[in-house]
Order: sequence, then C-alpha cells, then structure tokens
Amino acid sequence: MSLTFSVQQTSGTARRATVQLPHGPVETPIFMPVGTAGTVKAVPQNVLEEVGTQILLGNTYHLYLRPGHERIRRLGGLHQFISWPHPILTDSGGFQVFSLNQLRKVTPDGVQFRSHLDGSSHFFSPEHSMEVQIALGADIVMVFDECTEYPASRERARESLQLTMQWARRSRDYFLTHAQEVPWFAAFDGRTQNLFGIVQGGMYPELRRESAERLVELDLPGYAIGGLSVGEPRQHTREIIESTLPLLPADRPRYVMGVGYPEEIVEYAAMGVDMMDCVIPTRAARHGLLFTSEGRMNIKNLRYAEDRNPPDPACNCMVCQRYTRAYLRHLAMTQEPLGGALNSVHNLSIYLDTMRSVRDAIGRGTLPELLSRVRGRIDVHAPSA
Ligand SMILES: [Zn+2]
Repeated sequence: MSLTFSVQQTSGTARRATVQLPHGPVETPIFMPVGTAGTVKAVPQNVLEEVGTQILLGNTYHLYLRPGHERIRRLGGLHQFISWPHPILTDSGGFQVFSLNQLRKVTPDGVQFRSHLDGSSHFFSPEHSMEVQIALGADIVMVFDECTEYPASRERARESLQLTMQWARRSRDYFLTHAQEVPWFAAFDGRTQNLFGIVQGGMYPELRRESAERLVELDLPGYAIGGLSVGEPRQHTREIIESTLPLLPADRPRYVMGVGYPEEIVEYAAMGVDMMDCVIPTRAARHGLLFTSEGRMNIKNLRYAEDRNPPDPACNCMVCQRYTRAYLRHLAMTQEPLGGALNSVHNLSIYLDTMRSVRDAIGRGTLPELLSRVRGRIDVHAPSA
C-alpha cells in the first residue's frame, strides 16, 4: 500500500479528504474524467489540467488491445506515454469484457473473449488483468471482477458474486508478489500501486453486504462499489450506494464506478462517496448536450441559432469565457470536431467545479444548502424547439 488518506472535515456522512498517491495528491470528493484509450476524447492534457483534473481514468481493456500493455511498459508506463504526470486509475478490463463482447466465455479461471476491433481471441484472468495493469502503471488499480448484468436473478447474482470474490483474492495475491514490477518502482523510492476491491452483488442488499464483508477481509487500501449504472432504475443505484457505504472502512477511500449526472454526483458525495467517474460529461458533449448551472441544454436547439450568450453565464471555463451559444450550435450542426471538443471542456469544467463546490461546502458546513439548490435545478433549456 502506498497511499495515505486523511480526512480534514466531515458534514453528516460526507467527508472532505486528501488521498496522497505516488503521482501526487487528490482532493476528495473528486470526479475523474474518463480517458478511455489514453485520451479523454478530444481534450488535450494541458486543457485537462486547466479545468482542474486531478486524476484520470484509463481503460485497461482498450489499452491492452491498442497499443498493448507491453508497448506502454516499454515506453515507461501510461503516465509517460500519454504525458500525464498526475495520478491515474485503471479499471480491471472486466466491465468492457462483459459489456462489449457478446461471445465471451466465463470459466472459474477467467474470461475468454473476442476483440471488438478485429475478432481476435483473448483471455483475461485475474492474474493477467493485474499483469496488464502493473505494466500500465496507474496509481490505483482495480481487482478483476465480473460485472453482474441487470436484471439478474438472486441465484445468478450470488454465483457471480462468488466468482468475483475468488477473483479478488487471486488479483490481490498476484499483485502482492508482482507490485515491484511497476515501470516507475525505482524512480518512486520503491512505492507501489494501490489495489482497490470492488463490491458486487447485483441489486440485492444482502449480497452486497456479503461482498463488502469478505472484501474488507482482504485489507485493501480502498474499496469501490461496482455493477451500478447497468440499466437499473436510479432509485436502486441510490439505495445500493447508501446501504453499502457504511459497510466499507471509513478510513479508506470509497469509489463508486460509472456514475452519474451532476445532481447525482453531489448526492453521492453527500452520502460519503469520495471518488466517481463517468463518461457522461464527454459523451453527452459530443451529442451537443451541455450541463449548466441552470440545468441541461441541447445546444442544437434552434433557439440558440442567434444567441450571443455564453453557454452558461455562471461558468468561468475557457469555453464560456470566449464562445457564444450561436457558435457552439453552428459547430454542432455542421459536425465540426471543435464542437465536441469545446462542449467536452465545458461539461468537464461543470463536473469538476461541482465537486470543488462540494468540497468547499463540506468545509464551510453548507452542504445541505448546496444539495437543495442542486435538487431544485430545473431544465429551463430542455424543451425542444
Ligand atoms: Zn463553461
């Protein structure tokens, strides 16, 4: 273990903390932009820094297929390859293996799957996922798990959970004996990556409890709640997060994978979630959907054709400082790549600023006010023309 987690302030169940990682500190609660294939689509690294990105997420599955983990290892690891000197987290590849592959075959040993790119055959076991993640060299790595689909029967969710628990143990065992193989081990005075566990168990609170309890026995430096945002109603997401969080150690970071909308990340942070990631801000941006301080805005709407206002007058990002709604609409309508890029920068700014105001509110004791303001947001720009 090479992270330290220090809580500075709490407000109800929420906490403001610092996670010290090999590549620097991360102030939590934090939102992590998703850099799928070593890039947050259309956003250069200097701009990610400018909007306040503290930690990036990389997808093991995509990087393993292209350009390949051994190539990245030879290039000094993911930090050097993508020129990002700050913290990085990689997922285990499990989620993509399960979501992008119809022809996968799961055995107790691992998963056989075909590349979604060229149909070539591959095999991921817990050991291999760890080997790939060690080669990539992120500050935080994740155990290999099976993401239980939704809906899943109790029997199916229980079987999946048993597999995930065995895989977590195997991931940890492999990690402990190979942690010194990370590309930057020598350069960082023998510090290592940090392996997080993942709670599964479908939508069944008692399975989630069993998963959390068995995972905590592994004594990992942080814990994630996985298997959410897989198509379940939002109320289930909320209930699972709320009932699982108290089962995880309060002195370690708690990460909910793959959530959410701006209002949701504020709610989850208020429940006590420290870390979140999601493709929503960038994916929505490429479709012309902007998140603003007043709600959601479809920039393709005809009403913005001659609107000289910034996308969000309350936003201080570089996009809102310079460009008009009319121009962003034009870029969206003509499908100019710059449109998706600018929209992404604005949406990421909103997400990162939102988490910054959550941290400030925890510090000042004003989190309840922030929560009710966020909940009260209306989609003033939503109706289509
Ligand atoms: Zn903006």
